[in-house]
Amino acid sequence: MVTDPTIGVLALQGDVREHLAALAAVGMRAVPVKDAAALAGVDGLVLPGGESTTISMLAVRWGLMEPLRAAVRAGLPVYGSCAGMILLADTILDGRPDQQGIGGIDMVVRRNAFGRQVDSFEADVAFPSLGDDPVRAVFIRAPWVESVGPGVEVLATVPGAHGDRIVAVRSGPLLATSFHPELTGDHRVHALFAGIVRAGRRTPA
Ligand code: GLN
Repeated sequence: MVTDPTIGVLALQGDVREHLAALAAVGMRAVPVKDAAALAGVDGLVLPGGESTTISMLAVRWGLMEPLRAAVRAGLPVYGSCAGMILLADTILDGRPDQQGIGGIDMVVRRNAFGRQVDSFEADVAFPSLGDDPVRAVFIRAPWVESVGPGVEVLATVPGAHGDRIVAVRSGPLLATSFHPELTGDHRVHALFAGIVRAGRRTPA
């Protein structure tokens, strides 16, 4: 039997409920993921905003870090927002020395990067792959992407004192934003991710 694709939301810490609601709003079945068994049953995964050091500490403690890395290596579509973006970075700057990441996107992400200038702010951000209307982006102690490797597509930037800062990227089935689209009622980023999940659905054996 072919079932509808299911997207998990990693539910160790962070704004899990808001992502579940945003995914439901774009017509996806969405479930919280707290263990490796639940992870094995999803067709895509959201890493929510929250505190990346806490999420990674809990993932290690609950035996989820290796299954998460293996899932990314196996091509599971994953969308990381804010703390989730940090977790998807191959290189984290200003992380805690013992902080572990999942990795997967060839990018250097600086944690709390905007935080040194302004803790939290909102901005209308051009996001051409979502259409002409900008995205109202909520940044909360947000990271930015300092650099990306080949094969990583820059989807959105914001102007900064020292040039544009990258705030949204895609690398194959992996998507990441510095900001929190789950908080604004504009579900276009979740719809984009739902499309990636539908396109990448592993065909049943
Ligand atoms: N500053 C947080 C971290 O380092 C991220 C903030 C957020 O997810 N809103 O994980």
